[in-house]
Amino acid sequence: MVNRTAPEAPEAGAALAADPAAVFDWLDETAGQRARAGLTRTLRSRPADDPVLDLAGNDYLGLTRHPAVTRAAADAALRWGAGATGSRLVTGTTALHTELEEELAAFCGAEAALVFSSGYTANLAALTALTDPDTLIVSDAYNHASLIDGCRLARADVHRAPHSDPRAVADILAERAQRRALVVTDSVFSVDGNAAPLAELAAAARRFGAALLVDDAHGLGVLGPGGTGATAAAGLAGAPDVVTTVTLSKSLGSQGGAVLGPRRVIRHLTETARTFIFDTGLAPAAAGAALGALRLLRAEPHRADRAREVARALAARLAAAGLHASTPDAAVVSVRAPGPEAAVAWAADCRRAGLAVGCFRPPSVPDGVSRLRLTARGDLTDTQIADAVRIIAATAPATGPGRA
Ligand code: PMP
Repeated sequence: MVNRTAPEAPEAGAALAADPAAVFDWLDETAGQRARAGLTRTLRSRPADDPVLDLAGNDYLGLTRHPAVTRAAADAALRWGAGATGSRLVTGTTALHTELEEELAAFCGAEAALVFSSGYTANLAALTALTDPDTLIVSDAYNHASLIDGCRLARADVHRAPHSDPRAVADILAERAQRRALVVTDSVFSVDGNAAPLAELAAAARRFGAALLVDDAHGLGVLGPGGTGATAAAGLAGAPDVVTTVTLSKSLGSQGGAVLGPRRVIRHLTETARTFIFDTGLAPAAAGAALGALRLLRAEPHRADRAREVARALAARLAAAGLHASTPDAAVVSVRAPGPEAAVAWAADCRRAGLAVGCFRPPSVPDGVSRLRLTARGDLTDTQIADAVRIIAATAPATGPGRA
């Protein structure tokens, strides 16, 4: 009798795992697709003493290198350490965090504030903690990615509303089946620098018993009296049904974020928001720097006016040079480019000529139009504004929508 043993069955999945080096091959295929569409993104480190004129960052008031701000950061690190050491609820809250929350709330006219490690996590917190399965989120079509991600994380229904259209928002709210609703919008849209119709959105929300969440990343320090933000500018500071999120990384020249609103909203976020509870607290140096910048802005409110003035001057001069510049409501000016590759080449030409500009392409632009994005920094001199316009005009693509 022949002793036959059955061949060993291959282990489940063995054939698929035959070549470990091929596991991520599909990523190269998607990279190829992006390259063909002109959407390759690369990282470049910025020299500390870069002589280039920087209109690419979000340092709207030019405070990130202000001696009072860098000194506040250094003092905070020396006093409290380089890291927060733990969650805000465990060891990550210092006196600086508490002072920052109190002073930020007072500055913006809110009852209370809660500081997060970024504006991104602040947005995720507000959207997830202030909604439930019986909530409809009505989110502007052009909202920032962090708001979109917050909508994805929230256990609520989401309706993407037409851009800056309070009437459409009212219709959506009127027809909803959900008990609760949250209307969500950027205060200033980061690509074109246009402002949302906040007062009208708040009225629509109020009419239908909804709350309003405003992401004021690009409004704090620029809009409202003395830079107190878009919520204050719209007469909504302290409203019982309005919640505002901010980043500390733009006008305040630091890093981090915050949610501002009624005290009970802040208490709820402190006790339930996952990106607050399970995230390490903001580094003391960042809290200190933001506090230093906030105090500076409070003492020198003209800084906010100047940023808006620079934006208007920049846009007017670009238009006079025949370029397709946006009409700025805050401190962002954009210039249309004929396409993603032309935008990248234009930005590179500007850099070679001594000017750093932002370059926005799909998918970062909701309407598919590539643009150069300029930060109208409040600390720019008139000569610097003229230099920037000269370089952008001299390097502009000869034809296409870049030209007006
Ligand atoms: N909201 C808007 C509108 C933004 O532009 C940004 C940053 N680009 C954020 C939120 C996120 O803020 P942070 O960078 O502090 O995470």
